[in-house]
Amino acid sequence: NKIIVWLRRDFRLMDNPALYHAAQDGIVIPVYIHKPSSSTHNLTNSDLYHHQAVFAFQQTIKNQGGTLLIRKGNPEMILTEIVKEVDASALYFNYSYDPKESMTDQKIYENLRIPVQRFHSSLLTEPGTIINKQGNPYKVFTSFWKNLRALPIKKPLLQPKAINWYKSEPEETDLETSSKLRNYWKAGETAALEKWRYFLQNQLTDYQEYRNFPGIDATSLLSPHLAQGEITPRLIWHETKETLELISMEKGLSHRHEESAETFLKQLAWRDFAYHQLVEFPHIIDQPLQSSYLTFPWLKKDEVALEKWKYGITGYSLVDAGMRELKETGYMHNRVRMVTASFLVKHLLTHWLEGQAYFEKHLVDHDIANNTLGWQWVAGTGFDSSPFFRIFNPVKQAEKFDPDGIYIRKWLPELSDLPTKYLYQPSEASKEILKQASVEIGQDYPAPIVEHTFARERALEAFQRMKKGD
Ligand code: FAD
Repeated sequence: NKIIVWLRRDFRLMDNPALYHAAQDGIVIPVYIHKPSSSTHNLTNSDLYHHQAVFAFQQTIKNQGGTLLIRKGNPEMILTEIVKEVDASALYFNYSYDPKESMTDQKIYENLRIPVQRFHSSLLTEPGTIINKQGNPYKVFTSFWKNLRALPIKKPLLQPKAINWYKSEPEETDLETSSKLRNYWKAGETAALEKWRYFLQNQLTDYQEYRNFPGIDATSLLSPHLAQGEITPRLIWHETKETLELISMEKGLSHRHEESAETFLKQLAWRDFAYHQLVEFPHIIDQPLQSSYLTFPWLKKDEVALEKWKYGITGYSLVDAGMRELKETGYMHNRVRMVTASFLVKHLLTHWLEGQAYFEKHLVDHDIANNTLGWQWVAGTGFDSSPFFRIFNPVKQAEKFDPDGIYIRKWLPELSDLPTKYLYQPSEASKEILKQASVEIGQDYPAPIVEHTFARERALEAFQRMKKGD
């Protein structure tokens, strides 16, 4: 039996059902198909990271004596060709929940002339399985979480003991990667597992206390690995629980540790919540989940303000620090994602789709479901979102979550000599203080592009107009 394993965003040996079952059933032919639509000109950071992940997995397979077949083109056509070329007897692959991909998958499932098997692997739970008494998906995360928490989450599959890889000539590829991103992110299953286990042993205890502080290295940074399937949430879930049990038996578990683990698992469940919604309501990629927002009176697109937001020159230091972190590293801390997104949507009254597209282009961990949910959450247009009328004050958020100014100073070095209390609103500092810190407002750092109270009232007024149907 020769079994094709089609890999998309599942670059791992552990807990990879398509690969695991293929290894049991015959000779494994691993295939990666590069999409024809991706051109060098519009490659996103997550495309570039994706290519790094392909290379890392190609190496893993090579180390085991196999060859990853890398092809470019339409998946249905390429798979049909490979079936002929190698005389394959079956095709196995893991489900994708991206609405565009799942349509192609269904066609392949129905049309390929050999048996096709599909497996669930990238979430804790399968979409469509967590539903309320009326058979509908949960709209409120806490109810979704309560249900998920009570379920027996499937154990991760082990890495296949020995894989009988199909051997062929080594494949040459010209997939582009980025040396800048490589400064910050190391792709590959080994890197993902190392990062995860370091977090589990050393950082999980403090997750609950520090996870909202962007100046503290307190979150797992697993998001690019999860997005490319270099590690699975099921493995993370079970290793967390096993580690806690072990600690509890050996020396007793602190309340702090237990609470942190619970919060961490809950964050992981937000990812499932996002996918369950995307599968149920695929239109949310570019339309509000709550249709009442279809008539929201956004301002006419203001290119200048949008560019200032993108480049981190709004005059609000936490917003600017976040946007510069994103541009440099492809990542932004979750708290700052919420603040920058809220600033765009509410202070600049700009359609959330603008921000969603910019994040899609720049986030190394871009994930169609999480990004959609994140933007709809901030804009107040999704289920269980932050209500539109609750408007973050970017200065207060900065004071609260970057109390020592570590994060702001890191990303806005031009402000580093300002005393901390002026970091949050540099334009409010006296001339003398600014001079001592060598900051000239308008020269080294901008004045705010919009005044907070004015922007807040303007946003609330727009919200009222939508509600009244004006
Ligand atoms: P940790 O705190 O260590 O959490 C562990 C994992 O849980 C994350 O890797 C992620 O997979 C999941 N998770 C954590 N928080 C969330 C959340 N709020 N929603 C869904 N899953 C979560 N996350 C992405 O993975 N890709 C995106 O494209 C993305 N876009 C976002 C856009 C906006 C506007 C907002 C507000 C949030 C977005 N998020 C996105 C969610 C969140 O910001 C990131 O998952 C998180 O910052 C990644 O860092 P981490 O791995 O250190 O997280």
